[in-house]
Amino acid sequence: GPAEHPEDKTEAVPTKLAKGVVLGPDGKPCRTCTDVSSWFAMTKGKAGTSAAKPAAPPVLPSDCPPDVAELGRSSWTLLHSITATYPTAPSPQLQTETRSFIHTFSKLYPCWHCASDFQEWLKVDKNAPRVSSRDEFGRWMCEAHNAVNVKLGKNVFDCNKWEERWRTGWKD
Ligand code: FAD
Repeated sequence: GPAEHPEDKTEAVPTKLAKGVVLGPDGKPCRTCTDVSSWFAMTKGKAGTSAAKPAAPPVLPSDCPPDVAELGRSSWTLLHSITATYPTAPSPQLQTETRSFIHTFSKLYPCWHCASDFQEWLKVDKNAPRVSSRDEFGRWMCEAHNAVNVKLGKNVFDCNKWEERWRTGWKD
């Protein structure tokens, strides 16, 4: 029924925007820039089942387009996993390609305000990608992630533990 697919009718620009809904460069609400609570408040849909308790936080069905947080979690999983499989001694060519990938990623990231802040962060000299080894690159990615954590008021992650989290698994 319609309650199961509250996202179906979101192409039209709403007359009144709910708090927290971020617009895209086209002036339309940007799904990948907005958290799911604000999105559902705008569409007045209910996440999950229509019988959900009003107080329950909205849950984004796993087969729906990502909100800003789901996009972020998936992206960090990919990025940290890339550092986890990065060579310990990368060739000069791979290092150049890796810097280029980060640069291009920062242009293509689907949340425009996230991308814009990430590009600004990358421009600072001390934040330039360090790609000369797996450990360097893994720590650099951890620092990039921490910059976003700080911006969002989240806990800072201990970068000495990046490899346990993303490559080896936690030590017992
Ligand atoms: P996430 O931050 O997604 O982290 C996932 C897991 O990674 C954590 O559970 C933890 O185990 C591990 N982790 C946490 N920190 C680190 C670290 N420093 N190093 C290694 N592992 C770590 N969201 C916004 O709302 N606004 C933004 O401007 C914004 N900018 C972003 C820019 C980029 C480039 C990316 C990739 C994402 C951005 N996000 C932004 C999304 C945001 O970073 C989170 O992904 C999102 O808020 C979901 O957070 P989370 O608490 O589920 O965990």
